[in-house]
Amino acid sequence: MKHSFSITRSTNPKQKPNPDKLVFGETFTDHMFIMDYSKDKGWHDGRIVPYGPISLEPAAAVFQYAIEMFEGMKAYRTDTGKVQLFRPDMNIKRTNNTNDRICVPRIDPDLMLDAIKAIVDFDRDWIPDRPGTSLYIRPFIIADEPYLGVHPAKHFLFIIILSPVGSYYGVGGGSNQLPATKIYVEDKYARTAVGGTGAAKIGANYVISLKAQEEAAEKGYDQVLWLDSAEKKYVQEIGTSNAFFVINNEVITAPLDDGTILPGITRDSCLALLRKWGIPCSERPLTIEAVYQAAEDGTLNEVFASGTAAVISPVGEICWKGKKIPVKTGPIAQRLYDELTGIQTGKIPDTMGWTVEVEKI
Ligand SMILES: *Cc1c(COP(=O)(O)O)cnc(C)c1O
Repeated sequence: MKHSFSITRSTNPKQKPNPDKLVFGETFTDHMFIMDYSKDKGWHDGRIVPYGPISLEPAAAVFQYAIEMFEGMKAYRTDTGKVQLFRPDMNIKRTNNTNDRICVPRIDPDLMLDAIKAIVDFDRDWIPDRPGTSLYIRPFIIADEPYLGVHPAKHFLFIIILSPVGSYYGVGGGSNQLPATKIYVEDKYARTAVGGTGAAKIGANYVISLKAQEEAAEKGYDQVLWLDSAEKKYVQEIGTSNAFFVINNEVITAPLDDGTILPGITRDSCLALLRKWGIPCSERPLTIEAVYQAAEDGTLNEVFASGTAAVISPVGEICWKGKKIPVKTGPIAQRLYDELTGIQTGKIPDTMGWTVEVEKI
């Protein structure tokens, strides 16, 4: 490791949660990583400190104008006790792309990787080892500078917190049977538009999705399928995951070119695996009407969502404008799930060069 960080050890370590009852993102480890940014010093003073409240001025720009970005990745414990990350270079690249979009200074990729490795290594005892479990890593940046003028900030905090997690959908780690979700096609609210921030991983994209999610949940649906905001015609993303549709044995996902889709690392990994396996796949616009037509024709094979938290999540039902269609859960989602989690946890050899070990220091 090129960078070294100061360490303040927690004086009252917490009880580790029951690994069979982990709920996504509700418990945090004993420590966190913090680093400051100022105009004159750049990113500096990286440090490991006890996890706990931080003190900010009420005028901090993060509170006033939501100057905030985040990342999501995981550390996995392998059968041989090694700890590994999955494609951290992609999260770091995406961090800097997001930062560019919201006027946050870039972070040196080596510095960010060293910070992630340092905090994961320090709290490595928190990484659960049951099947389906992992340590969720949440790096984020906030503007902590106090001012009310609307302009880019000049002082920031970069923080990494860690949370041991089971399965995202709360079905308990260990089950290999993927639960099918019910999806509500959102045709009133919009999440992102061309020229907007859909490709940036920022909290602001999430707060504007809550209402749609809440209304879908009231109707008994697990997630929202977002359509493009201009025409409400093309499928985009499922909740906070990328969306895949298998029609007539072709795997289709929305293209990244108009900047409305979050470039998921799981999405990219699925495409890479599908191409390796010789399964036809395309990144192209797909209308919700074509999905319904395929369901009617009997050519809608599978629908699933992809993301770090849930990995692969098959869809069992779609509702659009009051019309419900059942979707069969199928072999492609299952194969992707098995391969991805196999590589991540070291059960399947990583021929793609995707895993990075967190060495014990
Ligand atoms: C994070 C995220 C995804 C999934 O990205 P991964 O890198 O696969 O975890 C998809 N859509 C949105 C809106 C996201 O924020």
